[in-house]
Amino acid sequence: MASENSQLHILFFPFFAPGHMIPMTDMAKLFAARGVKATIVTTPLNVPFVSRTIERIETHGGATATATAAKVDIQTINFPVEKAGLPEGCENFELLPSREMSSSFLKALAVLQEPFEQLLHDIDYHADCLVADMFFTWATDAAAKFGIPRLVFSGHSFFSTTAWESVTRYEPHKKVLSDSEPFLIPNFPGEIKLTSMQLPSFIREEVETDMTNVLKEAAEAGMRSYGIVVNSFYELEPAYADHYRKVFGRKAWHIGPVSVCNKEAQDKAQRGKESSVDEHECLKWLNAKKPNSVVYICFGSFAYFNDSQLMEIARGLEASGQQFIWVVRKEKNGGGKEEWLPQGFEKRMEGKGLIIRGWAPQVLILDHEAVGGFVTHCGWNSTLEGVTAGVPMITWPVFAEQFFNEKLVTQVLKIGVEVGVKRWLQGVDAVGEESIKKEAIEKVVKRIMVGEEAEEMRSRAKALGEMARRAMEKEGSSYSDFNSLIGELKSRCP
Ligand code: UDP
Repeated sequence: MASENSQLHILFFPFFAPGHMIPMTDMAKLFAARGVKATIVTTPLNVPFVSRTIERIETHGGATATATAAKVDIQTINFPVEKAGLPEGCENFELLPSREMSSSFLKALAVLQEPFEQLLHDIDYHADCLVADMFFTWATDAAAKFGIPRLVFSGHSFFSTTAWESVTRYEPHKKVLSDSEPFLIPNFPGEIKLTSMQLPSFIREEVETDMTNVLKEAAEAGMRSYGIVVNSFYELEPAYADHYRKVFGRKAWHIGPVSVCNKEAQDKAQRGKESSVDEHECLKWLNAKKPNSVVYICFGSFAYFNDSQLMEIARGLEASGQQFIWVVRKEKNGGGKEEWLPQGFEKRMEGKGLIIRGWAPQVLILDHEAVGGFVTHCGWNSTLEGVTAGVPMITWPVFAEQFFNEKLVTQVLKIGVEVGVKRWLQGVDAVGEESIKKEAIEKVVKRIMVGEEAEEMRSRAKALGEMARRAMEKEGSSYSDFNSLIGELKSRCP
């Protein structure tokens, strides 16, 4: 049904984790900036996470807050966590008391279908489309009940989406003799090699778990959905974008990098959680450095390492002789004891290295000209933010689809080097015997920061960064695909 003034109204329903809420909030801002009425649906305890990003919030009491500047509304639905068997207040993936509960959390999302449908029923301003995260496996059916199309957001690239499909469909890992024998991803552009050890445990092992069931349901609901929206740009992965559309025959719109909507330093600093460092102090520190002279190290919102791995990172950074900003998620890393730092490390590194304990304003840092390299866990948001910033990367994948992203960065785009992680990990605290040693870290940090190879990677990375920004400008590939999506959605409205 058309809205009263024929303004399109889109609901965005992100999964409750920073790596999903951040890009979807950016996406909602982008739609709002192009005249679409955008509403983010979330749960009460997740509101601050979204509202921080959207400027000038006015709370109109109760369950609704309106962000006037970006014209993004927020609507809340209750998450009966106890009914779902989760601890009280556990409304975000980050708040899980243990990794073992990840699957239970995903399964628990089923309890949201009823309150979500109630919201669709009650909402004042009729919605024309629902963009819902892949993990809300019931969302296609919920949207269908109200006669609106459901678009899927997975937070992944075309590359990893198609790689994942090829691996699950053709099971190349079952045709090798050992976990460490490389295989080619079948029926997939480029000669991309992986090993079984780098695949998620739930693909490798054939046991049915809550996780495999949720993923199966998500894939099935995805097939019945209207299509997918991808936080990527065509020039970054043309072969894989084409492959997805032609071979899998599904509708997809690339509308990224969505982080580009954050133009001002303040916008970049406000993304996601509150920064653990004063952004002005951080900028002052960076302003004093030469271009491309600082390496930035951050492993996203969810991965964390044990003390011995952190110690190796500290020693490797010091040995590399490079300046750095290193983000350490302090709540999981030994609290106040800090047994993960070599003695006198911070004193020796004064002025040369900055440790951010907690949350960093990542895009603000990456976009600074002083930053010349990025050590990343290859979460898709971080990878794309690194691409957009035009910096070479050291790839250090941990879990999820991060090993696929590593291959895109190192084997296809050739803008990064692998640190050498061999094994996909479910419980990241298990990093121990197989930890990456100081010498390897020192070597790769030097490789991306200094020398001819570094310069070559940097110039490729810079060119991609420019393409990324152009894609979002008028007539750019993402801008145009965005227009096609809006046009198509409008044409469905009577
Ligand atoms: N992020 C940030 N500061 C931090 C850690 C992460 O701003 O200290 C942001 C980062 O910019 C990215 C998101 O959180 O947008 C993390 O998403 P990603 O897909 O890279 O990894 P995940 O956290 O999902 O593993």
